[in-house]
Amino acid sequence: MTTELIITGVGCPIPSATSAGPGVLVRYRPPAGDESIHLQFDAGRSTVMRLMGADCRPSDLDAVFLTHHHSDHCTGLQDLVLTRWVMDRRGDSPALPIICPEGSAVSFAERMLDAWDNDLAVRKEHTGRTDDPALAITGFPLPPYPGEPVEVYRRGDVVVRAGQVRHEPVYPAVGYRIDTPDGTMAITGDTLVCDEVATLAAGVDVLVYEALRFSEFDELPPWRTFILDYHADTALIGKQALELDTPHLVLTHLIPPPADEADEARFVDDIRASGFEGELTVARDLTTIVLG
Ligand SMILES: [Zn+2]
Ligand SMILES: [Zn+2]
Repeated sequence: MTTELIITGVGCPIPSATSAGPGVLVRYRPPAGDESIHLQFDAGRSTVMRLMGADCRPSDLDAVFLTHHHSDHCTGLQDLVLTRWVMDRRGDSPALPIICPEGSAVSFAERMLDAWDNDLAVRKEHTGRTDDPALAITGFPLPPYPGEPVEVYRRGDVVVRAGQVRHEPVYPAVGYRIDTPDGTMAITGDTLVCDEVATLAAGVDVLVYEALRFSEFDELPPWRTFILDYHADTALIGKQALELDTPHLVLTHLIPPPADEADEARFVDDIRASGFEGELTVARDLTTIVLG
């Protein structure tokens, strides 16, 4: 019985030769005899490639969760869904649950295959199959805040809860808290450092936090300053993780994208300057944290 938390992409909208778009795979391996549970949180560019690197085929996924409707978190979802369908030779894959806050994320998920209708029609006629990609799209009401995270998914011993985060003007935006028998994880999605994240992440074993080094952007041209409006400053992340006494902090969605280990060390220095002494990982694609 183990739980693996695998970062499927540490990227962001800034293109990279090495970093896939944002995403986290949680894989729970129950005691012998029961099937593993695979949950994907966000699906940025190249998510399918990184899932294969994590030994998870699109057909293995039990559900996909979106934190918010920003293209860098969603562009890989079409690829994931189409690949799952194309590779399903028997046409009997169960509908893939796609779970996200009500609003534009749901609207995106419902319409994302419209642009592929001709492709789907040709493939169906060519192969004689009659089914379309099977999706079960569920939007949940934005959990109220103040308030505890709200359950949005349960399968066996795995429970996923959602809680508000602060990413305005993108609204709604949520983070997720995942419980398995091996421990508890939180994934912030994109957010400012805020009380909402403190509530989401209270008591977790592993906290996956988006990270932007504000100090790197002291002299932004005016047309770029918007980036500081709605992301998490590494200096503040460290302070919050210290207050929360977080055992293991994992940084992802790294801005600016690190080019080498020296760049990664600057993220570490920002966090450590707060006095945070817990375990700290500046993630790379396929960084894997094992619980249990
Ligand atoms: Zn993002
Ligand atoms: Zn965003």
